[in-house]
Amino acid sequence: MELDVDEMKVLGAIVGGGKTIKNIKQTSRLDKKEIEIILESLDRYEFISGVEGKGMWGQTQFYFTPTDDGSKKVDEYIEHLKSEWKKIIEFATDGKRDQLDDYMTQHKFLVNMMLYFKIVNLPALGRLNLRFLIEGKHLCYKCKKELGRFALKFSVSDCRKRGLKMPKGLTTHDDLCADCFDGLSVG
Ligand SMILES: [Zn+2]
Repeated sequence: MELDVDEMKVLGAIVGGGKTIKNIKQTSRLDKKEIEIILESLDRYEFISGVEGKGMWGQTQFYFTPTDDGSKKVDEYIEHLKSEWKKIIEFATDGKRDQLDDYMTQHKFLVNMMLYFKIVNLPALGRLNLRFLIEGKHLCYKCKKELGRFALKFSVSDCRKRGLKMPKGLTTHDDLCADCFDGLSVG
C-alpha cells in the first residue's frame, strides 16, 4: 500500500506518539477535516487502530496507536528518505545541478518530508546551499533568503537585458533578490 505525503505525515505523527487528533494536528499542521479522512484510510489499511475513550471534558474521543504494519511502514519510509538524501548529496557535491532539478521535479516534497521526519534539518540544508529544494518556498538563488510574494525578483532574462554576469548555475527557474542582483558585475 503506497501512501501519499499527507497520509505519511499522519502515520508518522501517530508512530511518533501522537494519540489524539489534536496531537496529530499539532505535529502535521494539517487541517482537522483532512486528518479525519486520512485516519479512516489508515484504519482501513490496518496501519493504525483507534480506541474510543473519554476526553478531558467527558466527551467521546478516539485514541490512536500504530499497528505493527504501521510502524514498519514508517521505518521503511525513513530508510527510503535516508537513501534519497544520499542521492541528493551526490548530485549536489558532483555539481549536477540540472540532474538535481529534474530529480526534484519528479520527487516533489521529498525534502519537505525529510525535514518532517528529521532526516535533515534547516541549518544543514543551509550549509549545503540546498534550502531551495524545500517545496513551496521561493528562495533567492544566490543568498537563499526567502523571496516573499511581494519581494522584488530578478530572473535570468533581467540579467541578460542588463548585460550582467550571471551566478554560476542560475537557471530560468531561479530568481535573485534585489541585493544579489545589484551586486552582480557587468559581464
Ligand atoms: Zn539574494
